[in-house]
Amino acid sequence: MSIKKPNVVEKWQKKNKYGRPGTTLKATKVAIHYTGEADVPGKNTVSYFNNVVANGYKVNGKYVYASAHYVIDLDGTIYQLIPTNERCYATNEANSYAIAIEVATTGKDNHYTDATYKAMVHLVAWLCQYKGLDCKKDVITHTDVVGKNYKLCPVYMVKNPSKMTQFKLDCYNLKAGKINVKDIKNCTNGKGEVTKVPNTTNNNTTTTEKTVYRVIAGSYSNKDTAEKQAKELKKKGYDAFVAPYNV
Ligand SMILES: [Zn+2]
Repeated sequence: MSIKKPNVVEKWQKKNKYGRPGTTLKATKVAIHYTGEADVPGKNTVSYFNNVVANGYKVNGKYVYASAHYVIDLDGTIYQLIPTNERCYATNEANSYAIAIEVATTGKDNHYTDATYKAMVHLVAWLCQYKGLDCKKDVITHTDVVGKNYKLCPVYMVKNPSKMTQFKLDCYNLKAGKINVKDIKNCTNGKGEVTKVPNTTNNNTTTTEKTVYRVIAGSYSNKDTAEKQAKELKKKGYDAFVAPYNV
């Protein structure tokens, strides 16, 4: 069972020292980020990396070095800026081993839209399959690398670790073929729904059903006739009884 690659809109960044240095990446982790400000379209982030930072952009007199392999938008569109065998500048010391995904968020708590969540699970599960990674161990947050004092990124997942665990489980189950993309439920939208794996509810219950074989001696539409027949059979030593049966 293998996952189909999700649709990706290619927005290749030109090689430049601020975001796409062209150095080799052998990815062993996938790092999740958030774009920083809720309800700002991810395509703005793509444009910022490709058209501003890549041309040399100074903040407080210092050049910004920033980029990401992928950006996921509020409508679930996945943009790719940098090939996964090249390094980007997103995850500090993990840049040498992590694929980075910037994800647009919504609402005060920076959670994910349903479309974004689905796209995020699909992309991460596919990347883990493509690179031979383990969804439960090899999917990390930016904060896992730099620590909470440096940055809460992605802020929703860092503040709600059980949602990050569910997200990784969804990626794992998709990669394992236990669920389909269309069945993925967004566990971050406050509705309390989580993705269910079909046919697993009774997996731990041992079945005690067994088959029995009945001997039927006759069927009667009149109850008195049936009881009379049962009485006759009992007299002959059979353990007969009358059972109503709808036909
Ligand atoms: Zn980050």
